[in-house]
Amino acid sequence: MTDAAIIDGKAHAERLREKVAAEVQRLKDSHGLKPALAVVLVGEDPASQVYVGAKGKQTVAAGMESIEHRLPADTSQDALMALIDQLNADDGVHGILVQLPLPSQIDEGAVIAAIDPMKDVDGFHPVNVGRLWSGDPRALVPCTPYGCLLMLRETLGDMSGKRAVVLGRSNIVGKPMAALLLAESCTVTIAHSRTQDLAERCREADILVAAVGRPKMVPGDWIKPGATVIDVGINRIDAPEKGPGKTRIVGDVDFDSAAKVAGAITPVPGGVGPMTIGCLLRNTVVAARNQKGIDGPAL
Ligand code: NAP
Repeated sequence: MTDAAIIDGKAHAERLREKVAAEVQRLKDSHGLKPALAVVLVGEDPASQVYVGAKGKQTVAAGMESIEHRLPADTSQDALMALIDQLNADDGVHGILVQLPLPSQIDEGAVIAAIDPMKDVDGFHPVNVGRLWSGDPRALVPCTPYGCLLMLRETLGDMSGKRAVVLGRSNIVGKPMAALLLAESCTVTIAHSRTQDLAERCREADILVAAVGRPKMVPGDWIKPGATVIDVGINRIDAPEKGPGKTRIVGDVDFDSAAKVAGAITPVPGGVGPMTIGCLLRNTVVAARNQKGIDGPAL
């Protein structure tokens, strides 16, 4: 029996995509601006190919231009940097995303740092990290934590004064999530593999965001009754019940026990995942508006 309200990521993502598409239409009609997103894929990693394909499709569906650069796995650092320079200089390109991970001969940090911060729709450039933590409205914010924030805002409204615990301190999820919750005036704890009394820390949370990459690590008895739980984890585990060799995706939270205690919870799949590409589209629109000095509705 599930007691918690289910936070439906697919429905949230659908609403976000509609808002983005309406704003793209307004930019075209009122400003003659068609936002364009360039995605660069190096190599043939199957998961990355799926992500890049999905990003391109949704970009076009939102009315924007999608540009794809697919480079061979043995692409040199210099060749990739030359492409970034070309995309930075192109006025018709408003967002640049280099699909990670990159092959081992390429220095990922150097590539991220080479992207024009105003076009950095992944929000990984050090300038955008600094802008996020310093409250600069020009910050482009990493897509996954921003999607979590949008769902939290719709679920909770004002979060001021709430105790938030972010489990995980990666640059792409945990740290930016903590910055966003701090900006909402939550009291934020960032927990990680060295945190002592982890269960106790989690039980203090009115808002618990789990981003550890460990299947079902957070059980129901780590959750404060009525808390809002956002499960970022995507973990593939064996599913012998589905047949020999079959697998399924689970989160970092043990959904069945957590849903008996939490007030609201995201499922996996169907929670955080669907919001991530929606936020990439959102960031592309925001980047295009910022570059052209155009105001518009909050997205
Ligand atoms: P990551 O870079 O591997 O970071 C994991 C974090 O969890 C680290 O800070 C680590 O602590 C902490 N951690 C690991 N084991 C722990 C433990 N036993 N107790 C406490 N903390 C522990 O992972 P990530 O990139 O942030 O991703 C996290 C999860 O989110 C993954 O499942 C990933 O697939 C998923 N994800 C989903 C989306 C989406 O679109 N839904 C996007 C990105 C990521 P230390 O720093 O101390 O090592």
